[in-house]
Amino acid sequence: MYDLIIIGGGPAGLTAGLYASRARLNVLMLERLAPGGQVLNTDWVENYPGFPEGISGFELVDRMKAQSEKFGLQIANEEALDLELAGATKTVKTNKGEHEAKTVILACGATWKKLGVEGEALLAGKGVSYCATCDGPFYRDQDVAVIGGGDTAVEEAIFLTRFAKKIYLVHRRDQLRATKLLQERVMAEEKITLLWDTIPVRIAGRNGVEGIELRHVKTGEITRKDVQGVFIFVGTIPNTDVAKNLIKLDANGFVLTNDDMETSVSGIFAAGDIRSKRFRQIATAVGEGAAAAFSVEKYLESLEGP
Ligand code: NAP
Repeated sequence: MYDLIIIGGGPAGLTAGLYASRARLNVLMLERLAPGGQVLNTDWVENYPGFPEGISGFELVDRMKAQSEKFGLQIANEEALDLELAGATKTVKTNKGEHEAKTVILACGATWKKLGVEGEALLAGKGVSYCATCDGPFYRDQDVAVIGGGDTAVEEAIFLTRFAKKIYLVHRRDQLRATKLLQERVMAEEKITLLWDTIPVRIAGRNGVEGIELRHVKTGEITRKDVQGVFIFVGTIPNTDVAKNLIKLDANGFVLTNDDMETSVSGIFAAGDIRSKRFRQIATAVGEGAAAAFSVEKYLESLEGP
């Protein structure tokens, strides 16, 4: 019986793991892929404090992992599939077995949203990508489209200027959602052409992307751009499958918690991008991970009684 099982190894989970292990709790982290979460898709992080020159997403999570493991965090490469309650005991069923714990922190993060247009599923991995860091180098001297107007789309479009010849940044409104600083940077990039009030309607190609058909939302005009890659960054959906029938979620499916990261079920906590909240940053995820670990400690003390 573990004191705590943390599901998900992004910055929120790794920080919860650090705090809880350092507090001498017996902690297991379950991570279906490599620890790191969405940060692994981020080429360069320059708004996480302590790294004035910036740091690669990969190195940042590698350091977080090493720090947590130093204090005894156990990390298992398993996918959590189901969470069951029997009294105060929580049983996490995974693709490799099951584990029992007194508490659980859901830090499973979120997954890229799909656009749902024709050609997207067919050409996923064959020119349609959700990760510029992973796939950007394949598009050296080629033309690509980036879909979305948030921080991710803008940051990734700027990253792609290292490789691509021309980048169309396709946004459905006439104003970007991304922060001012990123807006200024993207406007200054000569390789990036902004296509306002425009949505993709079809991604063309058979064995690879050959073009993208776009519709101007105000005029209805359909145009085509001959691109070899389409990068889609239109937001994320929370990874709540493991617990969605147990805990209260908001209308968009994100986990509702109070300020102490407590969910609607006693002994189950949540931290990071899986939560219903406004700000989704590495720095905020880290703070929530720490808060969740403190709340776990308090909860375990309450189980022991006076
Ligand atoms: P986001 O902020 O939700 O932006 C999604 C973008 O995709 C929006 O511009 C949205 O348009 C557009 N969109 C959504 N559905 C669409 C559809 N069906 N068709 C076309 N366009 C669609 O998502 P995000 O950019 O991934 O950012 C997620 C969170 O992470 C945010 O809180 C962000 O601040 C944070 N983040 C921060 C950094 C950083 O600080 N360095 C980097 C990356 C992400 P509308 O604008 O019209 O809604």
